[in-house]
Amino acid sequence: VKILNIVGARPNFIKVAPLHRAFLTYPAIQSKIVHTGQHADSRMSDVFFKQLALPQPDYSLGPGPASPCTQTQQTARILVEFEAVLMAEQPDWVVVVGDVTSTLACGLAAAQGGIRVAHVEAGLRSGDRRMPEEMNRILTDTLSDLLFVTESAGLDNLRREGIPDEKVWFVGNVMIDSLVRYRPQANELDTVGRLSLIPGEYILVTTHRPANVDHEAGLVNMVQIVEAASAHKMVVFPVHPRTQANLVRFGLMSRLMAIPTVRVLEPQGYLEFLNLMEHAAVVITDSGGVQEETTFLQVPCLTVRASTERPVTVDLGTNQLLADLNPATVRYHIGEILAGRIKAAAIPPLWDGRAAGRIADILLNERTPVCSRQGF
Ligand code: UDP
Repeated sequence: VKILNIVGARPNFIKVAPLHRAFLTYPAIQSKIVHTGQHADSRMSDVFFKQLALPQPDYSLGPGPASPCTQTQQTARILVEFEAVLMAEQPDWVVVVGDVTSTLACGLAAAQGGIRVAHVEAGLRSGDRRMPEEMNRILTDTLSDLLFVTESAGLDNLRREGIPDEKVWFVGNVMIDSLVRYRPQANELDTVGRLSLIPGEYILVTTHRPANVDHEAGLVNMVQIVEAASAHKMVVFPVHPRTQANLVRFGLMSRLMAIPTVRVLEPQGYLEFLNLMEHAAVVITDSGGVQEETTFLQVPCLTVRASTERPVTVDLGTNQLLADLNPATVRYHIGEILAGRIKAAAIPPLWDGRAAGRIADILLNERTPVCSRQGF
């Protein structure tokens, strides 16, 4: 069985690493990696290959058009370039993860070429079609032959959209597979200590969603949220390249740098960021993956978005959605958490570090149709 695994953007490397490793344990599976070049910046790509022990890609598409390019340009480039790889390789499966442009583009090229597509992290829905990721999720799920789901909301969403039950498997969360595997190494590296931070005495912030950082008003609001947080405790803020470019464009970088209790950092490697998350008093984020990781680590998370596609992190986990995006609301909730008024939280079912093994088993044995909704 020949599988092409697609990676393009930061969260993809973290999800594909355990999959590729699991596939390699099956002699009958030939597993290759295709990098679409969506994130080419070494801080967003190379460091993850190194830390997650991913082999160099068998195919590297690109280079893409000079940035900034639109999502449509990116999709079109990847479609055309990936089609050539498909023709050369003739794989049995194309495995796509998450909800980025590369997920949809490679899924579509495969489906158009009559090659089967497996979507890992299927079924998540924010209900907000203005998010580019939401369109990627819906379209990728529609064209996929196997859909691997991380939480029960995914099962409900796919059923509601008419995806046949026998294509859908509840397997757990491959991002948590990486976390479980690399947590000891992250602690050994001790980024918190190296940055002279005290565990439990800082707030970690990440933001990069277009709705929060692409328009001046949204980004001013994010800076105000950082200011509000920094009134409580030291803020550690690894800045995503997209956010960095917009902070400069809107003249907000100097305002951020001027706050004495804010440490502005480069985007962090996986091990570094994992350690920063684990020991934060609170995490403020608009990331998808960080909502899940903080739930697993049992670290309080405030999500500054209008909606989440990962409701289990709110229903069961440590996540709270602050949909009004109001700095005063954020400040209030930080105060509550620091005062010890923390919501009870549990780790979601099957987030146990073994999702990739289940996926490999299903792909290899092609155990369909069965009553997959039962999970394991
Ligand atoms: N992450 C990282 N370094 C950082 C910020 C995040 O390694 O400076 C990791 C984080 O632990 C998670 C993933 O990147 O595993 C999330 O990626 P991102 O927030 O870019 O994407 P999203 O999950 O929102 O799609």
